Order: sequence, then structure tokens, then C-alpha cells
Amino acid sequence: MKTKLYMHFPTKLTDTPVTYELIKHFDLKVNILKANIDFNMIGTILYDVEGSAQAIAEAITYLKNLGLDAELIATVITIDENRCTDCGLCTSVCGVKALAIGSPDWKLSYDADKCVGCNHCIPVCPSRAISGLVPEPVL
Ligand code: SF4
Ligand code: SF4
Repeated sequence: MKTKLYMHFPTKLTDTPVTYELIKHFDLKVNILKANIDFNMIGTILYDVEGSAQAIAEAITYLKNLGLDAELIATVITIDENRCTDCGLCTSVCGVKALAIGSPDWKLSYDADKCVGCNHCIPVCPSRAISGLVPEPVL
């Protein structure tokens, strides 16, 4: 299975080689989509992970036992359909084509598998219909 894994980890674990452990001990294919360590040395990582369901479940248990807040997520952004006017502006900034709009219904569609959590679509939405799970770096 392929899914997204989001982790939030405390200061004391920011130097733990978590990605290495996921690959080496759980035989997962791991792609880092987004990583951040803020000024308080609190970190977040968003991964695409691929492997058996059992290996992923065991990896989550391992991460939690380490003290990391780790969870599988189905979607990185949320689109409020009540606010969205299907104007299409957000599709112009989505480089991976996770957002699309077109015939026959000209309704916005979102492909969570393609989304890399860049958050570029959020500020361009005039209706403020999009919210993101993964925060931007704190400067
Ligand atoms: S967060 Fe980035 S990749 Fe995901 S839908 Fe928005 S612009 Fe596209
Ligand atoms: S920019 Fe906002 S209102 Fe326009 S299609 Fe995207 S989510 Fe909908």
C-alpha cells in the first residue's frame, strides 16, 4: 500500500535518524515531501510511504514508542465545498496537477495521491476554501 505519513516530533528527537530506520528496519519506500524544524527545534515531516500494511503499522507503533506523534493521513489539504466557487485559480499554482477543473461539469477536483503538501494553493484561493494540515516553517 502507498499512503502519507505525517510526524510531529519534540526537540529531544530532532536528531533521531527516523527516515533511515523506516527504510532499514521496516523495508519501506520513503519519499520526504516536506520537512521543517522551527526555532524551538520542534520538527514535522510529511512522507509518502510505500510497503506492506503490516510493515507500515509496525513502523507507526515503533515511532509512537519513540515518542513521536505519527499518523497516516488521507489528505494533506481540505477544500470546503461550501466556500469553493470553482473559479479554478488554485489549479494554476498546483505543479503536480493534484487540483484540476474542466469539462463536463467544471467542478474542482482534488487528487490526494498526487498532492505533495506544498500549500501553494491556500493563499491564492479568494474564497479561503482551502486549509492545510502541514504548517509552513516558522521564520
Ligand atoms: S498543497 Fe500543493 S500539491 Fe497539494 S493541491 Fe495544493 S498546490 Fe497542489
Ligand atoms: S481557488 Fe478556491 S474557490 Fe477557486 S476553485 Fe480553488 S478552492 Fe475553489
